[in-house]
Amino acid sequence: MGKDIYLVIGGSGFLGRHIVDQLRARGDNVSVFDIVQRYHDVPFYAGDITSVESLSKALRQSGTTCIIHTASPPAGLTDASIYYKVNVDGTQAVVDAAIACGVKKLVFTSSAGVVFNGGDIIDVDERLPYPSVPMDAYNDSKAKAESVVIESNGKGGLLTVALRPAGIFGSGDRQVMAGLWEVYEGHKTHFQIGDNNNLFDYTYVGNVAKAHLLAADKLETPAPAPALTALGKQPVSLDE
Ligand code: NAD
Repeated sequence: MGKDIYLVIGGSGFLGRHIVDQLRARGDNVSVFDIVQRYHDVPFYAGDITSVESLSKALRQSGTTCIIHTASPPAGLTDASIYYKVNVDGTQAVVDAAIACGVKKLVFTSSAGVVFNGGDIIDVDERLPYPSVPMDAYNDSKAKAESVVIESNGKGGLLTVALRPAGIFGSGDRQVMAGLWEVYEGHKTHFQIGDNNNLFDYTYVGNVAKAHLLAADKLETPAPAPALTALGKQPVSLDE
């Protein structure tokens, strides 16, 4: 199979930029689609993901075969409607444009928060269902966007995957360190929540970016056929 041509949606952002850097470092053809332009070293398409038209134009002009969709409003906004508009309607528009333009692969950045209900989550895997009462609009919209992506797998030849990072840290972060700094500046560091045994997963941004590249590469590998004996069947002889 030939090399993919990538469009990183949200490629001007923290994680998106690391994905762009890693694709460039391995010599791949990559463009960015975003509402803001922060870098000028790759082809840039200005647009909002809620517009199928803008997306389709960028996909056709760039010849994209693989979309990596990292765009989202930041967590913590008071206006919930922006999350549903961008994350749910916008992600549906990404899927629609991808299928209309014959894109082969879509890697979506979801969030570990999609299964968080405010309680401890220990030793679980992706089979854990979404909570009946979502944590907040951001996480609810990410769960709904993730469902849109997963349900579109196989439609019109599009292969999809969703990744769920927890907290991301590293160079270019505008959320995690800013929040910690605000606590420090506000002299709130003497408050402790819990018994000092609370855990939260953080992953280095370079590793999260690498996971997106690996997921994209893996999407084109056909799933191995299950052994017939594993399905409780006997092989059929073609000579009979
Ligand atoms: P970021 O804000 O740095 O980057 C997001 C990018 O998306 C920005 O460049 C922004 O301009 C763009 N964008 C926003 N709305 C858009 C729209 N309507 N159309 C086009 N572009 C739009 O955020 P980030 O921290 O890099 O997060 C990237 C992804 O990772 C998000 O989907 C987020 O939900 C997910 N995530 C982040 C964290 C974290 O700790 N940062 C943790 C878990 C999941």
